[in-house]
Amino acid sequence: NAKFFVGGNWKCNGSVASVRTLVDELNSGVLNSGVEAVCAPPFIYIDYVMQHLDSKKFALAAQNCWIGGNGAFTGEISAEQLIDFGVPWVLAGHSERRALNGESNEFVAKKAAHAVSSGMSVIACIGETLDQRNSGSVFKVLDAQMQALVDEITDWSKVVIAYEPVWAIGTGVVASPAQAQEVHAYLRKFCQAKLGLSVADTLRIIYGGSVNDANCKELAHMEDIDGFLVGGASLKGCSFVTICNAGG
Ligand code: 13P
Repeated sequence: NAKFFVGGNWKCNGSVASVRTLVDELNSGVLNSGVEAVCAPPFIYIDYVMQHLDSKKFALAAQNCWIGGNGAFTGEISAEQLIDFGVPWVLAGHSERRALNGESNEFVAKKAAHAVSSGMSVIACIGETLDQRNSGSVFKVLDAQMQALVDEITDWSKVVIAYEPVWAIGTGVVASPAQAQEVHAYLRKFCQAKLGLSVADTLRIIYGGSVNDANCKELAHMEDIDGFLVGGASLKGCSFVTICNAGG
């Protein structure tokens, strides 16, 4: 079985001074050997974090990348450049990019597939809004987000799926363990049908949305929750380490 996976998505937060403090806090934390922990700083701090964060404990992720290779794409950073720089992981399809930058299911899937084919590992994010949940279309929405990924990605050994219900992100309203488990089990069944048993069994499906050091343990015990994607609580070193250690 693959390791418990915890990602810290720092989003557009931090300063030179606060990143230095956070890196020091993370380095002083004690991580379980059974966890794969990944930090995703803003691009501008990746160089500093790479040089100072203990790479035996934490790997690095970018929060985004361009949909294709290098070229005349002002303001973008390609998966090729991330690999060249030594960044192994990238997020794709975070709900904030879907909502604020207009990224469609197909765009996210193409980006994720290009990153994988460039040699990166990808944390592909999916999840429904509150309106979609209230109108009973959770599984329809997730089907469309997942199907786009299935249509584009060929090597699923490099993918982690992050289920992040939009209504739980940054709201303090965490999904209940039963709510999250229901969706994670559904996603695993979807993958079993589309990608086969061995992919479905080994694929890590992680939960994101208001995870903190108080609620992580109960969520981590659920059968199909293989880790977390953490926003706000990843900006406090001791909280993030506690969440990393929730798996075992
Ligand atoms: P919060 O943990 O702040 O709710 O954010 C979750 C998230 O969006 C991680 O990608």
